[in-house]
Amino acid sequence: MVSTPSKITTITTNSGLQYLPKLGGSIKESSPNQELLPLTAKVNNLDHLEIGGWDVPGLVEKFGSPLYIVDEYTLRTACRQYREALKQYYPGESLVLYASKAWNSLAICALCGSEGLGIDVVSGGELYTALQAGVKSEKIYFHGNNKSVAELNLAIETDCIIVVDNWLELETLAALKKEQKEQLQNPTKIMIRLTPGIECHTHEYIRTGHLDSKFGFDPNQLNDVFAFISKQELLSFIGIHAHIGSQIFEIQPHQDLADVMVDAITTASVHNLSIKEINIGGGLGIRYTEADDPPSIETWVQKVSTAMVDACQSKQLPLPKLLCEPGRSIIGPACVTAYTVGSQKQIPEIRTYISVDGGMSDNPRPITYQSVYRAVVANKLSEPSTETVTIAGKHCESGDVLIKNANLPVTQPGDCLVVMTTGAYNYSMASNYNRVPRPAAVLVGNNEVNVILQRETYQDLLNQDILPERITMGVQ
Ligand code: PLP
Repeated sequence: MVSTPSKITTITTNSGLQYLPKLGGSIKESSPNQELLPLTAKVNNLDHLEIGGWDVPGLVEKFGSPLYIVDEYTLRTACRQYREALKQYYPGESLVLYASKAWNSLAICALCGSEGLGIDVVSGGELYTALQAGVKSEKIYFHGNNKSVAELNLAIETDCIIVVDNWLELETLAALKKEQKEQLQNPTKIMIRLTPGIECHTHEYIRTGHLDSKFGFDPNQLNDVFAFISKQELLSFIGIHAHIGSQIFEIQPHQDLADVMVDAITTASVHNLSIKEINIGGGLGIRYTEADDPPSIETWVQKVSTAMVDACQSKQLPLPKLLCEPGRSIIGPACVTAYTVGSQKQIPEIRTYISVDGGMSDNPRPITYQSVYRAVVANKLSEPSTETVTIAGKHCESGDVLIKNANLPVTQPGDCLVVMTTGAYNYSMASNYNRVPRPAAVLVGNNEVNVILQRETYQDLLNQDILPERITMGVQ
């Protein structure tokens, strides 16, 4: 059980913006994806930011900097809101999968698993981690547009559900099953990923549902695909999957998806295949800045569920099991990254750079997608914002800027700068660029703080390095 924070006070921080959830604290009232800070955030009596009952500058002092801080209450709340809304608005069976590409690690997979969620994985490594976290294989769905034979074999052996993306994969899978017939006779469950031809307004790199996408079968291939599958005794077809993109605020494209998916039920029935499960993907956006206004988890689930029910009713079809696979909206708002402020450079009449001890290696989203974040100075919450500065990372790359034009109070070296909503696609996309060790991550909740990722050491950086002796001998 995660205890509800006793008192949630609204923070009006530095720039005068209210970053905190509405008062009340009931799970239904606040959708984590509509907040900039985790739901347990408050100002403590030191005038510091506190998350999950822990003083943020204090956590940095104890666990080092930079530090990912994950709030268990916010994470569990997001999981529960998805689950409960599906129960409320979808009369058929349903399952929420956590899209673990957003942050795949033992603790995060186990937390989502303990909330009753299944896990979506896209590589052998993510699959292995989810299994090691204790998630049952019957709740693991394996995606990916270029799965290797080794990955397919691992999926077959561990009995998870494979979301087949293309012809090569389908034929390879059928051949592998025939080869393994003697040892593994149980059919492997498969779904088919289709490209629904739906446009949505998000960054082109995270748009996946339009026809010009590397993922999935075109709808006009489905007849041939279903004809092939209907002849495969060792593949058990259970349904179809589509995902239209990520960080989406509109609901209409998700509603339109229902009709495309339900059309596929009719196509499958021509080949005597029944679609028991429909997976509508993830994609619900989150609030990275005060300008972002995504729908709540509950509203999103309500609308997509109703669209699916309506689409099935209009064709007089029974309701399939409805799956969705959110990633960003589950883990994104639950985490902040705390950095320590270092050097500053003032360029008169141009800008002031404030450098922190991390950057593009722990958060590659700004340099990759021009993503915008907000920050607060965690040890100066009541000080007014009097400066507009650019927060730069420490990497040898001019583009390594975390936030342009941040409104902050006057900062000094040693201050604790917290970048908000960093749970999704930060740690999972982190690198060791410039041989910077990746940060530690702590989980705060239940009156405890647990390290869930150890800080990498310089020795860790060398673990995969091999120095052939003949080269060592040449070093002068
Ligand atoms: N499912 C699939 C197939 C995806 O590719 C993604 C992300 O790109 C997701 C789910 C999760 O999307 P999001 O994190 O936006 O919820």
